[in-house]
Amino acid sequence: MITTRFAPSPTGPLHLGHAYAALVAAGAGQRFLLRIEDIDQSRARPDHEAAIYDDLAWLGLRWEHPVMRQSARLPAYRAALAQLWNMGLLYPCHCNRRDIAAAIEAPQEGAQLGPDGLIYPGTCRAQPAGPMPEGVLRLNMAAALERAGQLTYVNNDKVERVENLAKTCGDVVLARRDMGTSYHLSVVVDDAAQAVTLVTRGEDLAEATPVHVVLQALLGLPHPEYLHHRLVRDDAGKRLAKRDDARALARYRAEGASPADIRRMVGL
Ligand code: GLU
Repeated sequence: MITTRFAPSPTGPLHLGHAYAALVAAGAGQRFLLRIEDIDQSRARPDHEAAIYDDLAWLGLRWEHPVMRQSARLPAYRAALAQLWNMGLLYPCHCNRRDIAAAIEAPQEGAQLGPDGLIYPGTCRAQPAGPMPEGVLRLNMAAALERAGQLTYVNNDKVERVENLAKTCGDVVLARRDMGTSYHLSVVVDDAAQAVTLVTRGEDLAEATPVHVVLQALLGLPHPEYLHHRLVRDDAGKRLAKRDDARALARYRAEGASPADIRRMVGL
């Protein structure tokens, strides 16, 4: 049995891109789960969460209850971080964006970017000592890769190797300031907790996937398979963003569109 999930952040109205992602996820397996990714409590809003349930039900989707909400899972994330800390793979970081940009020599236009933006130059990298602190924690990627060994994962039905991550992603943040966790860590811990076997997500997140494969290996979690789907774009070819309210599902609903119309619009 294939278990999939749709994992939106309740930070804005769902648009056509979300509808497509949710329909792809629901159609790719037999068991469909929903997860509310609300670790960023400064941006998550209950009215957006309520609208997500409403829009998805209107689209004809059904999911298992209770719905997992990341804001309730901090202890699980801290436990995973502690595991990595005790393996000597995390270190505290005190750099801000400006420090990082300044530390990167000649960060010209087109300078290498990882899944989270500028690749961290390693300024704070150190051997961890003592108890795990609060605040920003980064993964020592080179040490993590050495520990994890040679890794492969299934991406769109093909086996791919995890390669070069120290260069292409660098020491990613696993605990963000004031959040105690991060997208990368939470998604890995939760996909395992929900026993997701096929992660479907937009191709814009494909770069983050090998980081997740490394974390799964380090934490002793199973590797799901991955399917990275195309993005729904506007007429100018730009990917849709949360602020594109014009593309909000609620707008199309208000104008009388049917769920079948939405499927057609996103090319399903
Ligand atoms: N929460 C993420 C988003 O809103 C997607 C999670 C994932 O597929 O890993 O884009």
